[in-house]
Amino acid sequence: MLRFYTINALALVIFFGLLLGGFFGDVPVWLYVLFVLIWIVITAIGSFQIRWNYHLQSLNHNYKVSKNYVSITFDDGPNPDYTPKVLALLKKHGAKATFFLIGKNADMYSELVQQIINEGHSIGNHSFSHAKNFGFFSSKKVVADLNHANALLKEITGKELKLFRPPFGVTNPNIKKALRKTGHKSIGWSKRSLDTTNLSEEKIFKRITTNLKKGDVILLHDSSAKTLAVLEQLLLFLQSHELQSVPVDQLLEIEAYA
Ligand SMILES: [Zn+2]
Repeated sequence: MLRFYTINALALVIFFGLLLGGFFGDVPVWLYVLFVLIWIVITAIGSFQIRWNYHLQSLNHNYKVSKNYVSITFDDGPNPDYTPKVLALLKKHGAKATFFLIGKNADMYSELVQQIINEGHSIGNHSFSHAKNFGFFSSKKVVADLNHANALLKEITGKELKLFRPPFGVTNPNIKKALRKTGHKSIGWSKRSLDTTNLSEEKIFKRITTNLKKGDVILLHDSSAKTLAVLEQLLLFLQSHELQSVPVDQLLEIEAYA
């Protein structure tokens, strides 16, 4: 798998090769341009594809798990319109999940956070701000944002959160540095539903369930009626395939709280 430092070291070698080539011979300008473009594209994809583990190691699945477990995870809540309905569906089907909460939402709807915990699900940190420019935060700002969410959620639940899901799944050297300071584990996914895009319910359901196997981590958002409809289908699918959704910490065999 590609890694940020490996790619940069390789890029440096190629760059000096091109420079030397230009010094002793003739290297066309387009070759330099092509080289820079390739580097930019790889770095951009690596930053947006959490599954590449390009900048930092995220836990994206556990295919070694012995039981028939998968894990449904919900980002961006709690949401007053949809979280209660998601919780009711999970209860009806005896499924457990993990909610990666946005701090500022948890602040507004703390009773929902409590309900999530009371019903046997686990929670993780999905930043306080979920700012659109989170990927451009300095490492200091990321640390402050994560600590803010952790402090607030500790006030509500008494738990010190150890799991972190990067907003938008974006990682970079600043986030890596910040996580070293805060001690959070980065949690990714192996099945991205794209339920916040304008994909149809059928397509989202197909994206999740095609080749779904034990050990997979599914990413959903408790923020739309569409996801609710997909969730109901998914829970039926899991039952008929003898798969059980458990909190992500149970699937990954790690601790959710300090
Ligand atoms: Zn999010």
